[in-house]
Amino acid sequence: MKLFPKEYLPSVSHIDLKKLWNEGKRGIISDIDNTLCKDEQFYIEEASKKFIEEALNIGFKICLMSNNGEARVKPVATELNLPYHFKAHKPKSEAYNTCLKKMGITVEEGVMVGDQLFTDIYGANRIGLYSVLVEKIHPKEIIQIRLKRPFEKLVLFFFKK
Ligand SMILES: [Mg+2]
Repeated sequence: MKLFPKEYLPSVSHIDLKKLWNEGKRGIISDIDNTLCKDEQFYIEEASKKFIEEALNIGFKICLMSNNGEARVKPVATELNLPYHFKAHKPKSEAYNTCLKKMGITVEEGVMVGDQLFTDIYGANRIGLYSVLVEKIHPKEIIQIRLKRPFEKLVLFFFKK
């Protein structure tokens, strides 16, 4: 089943990096929004930073991948000092292959980590890339933020008058 991830974990912190390394994995492609950061926010979760640090220490290569534009992706990649691929068009195979190439690893050596079944995971499975689905970071808060936006606009509209 192309939609089932190989692993489904509560967060990136739960990924058993040593196990993956021992299985021959050498590079990780990571989604950004709701995987490492809350949606549309530039603050990178401490747990995400720790995960990346640990992976790099073991010897993994990491490449960030997002369907979002460079304005969203670059600041995160710069802070983490990682290569990145923006406007990737997941779940297209090309998106994953571009990242594998950036890391100089084969598809068998790669791991995809993301929160979206229909993009991150489906696309990875299609090309035989090991897939790890993680739960979205604080989805409730994100919904609250979204719901607030129209009201914010309304308030600002009257404020300007
Ligand atoms: Mg995401």
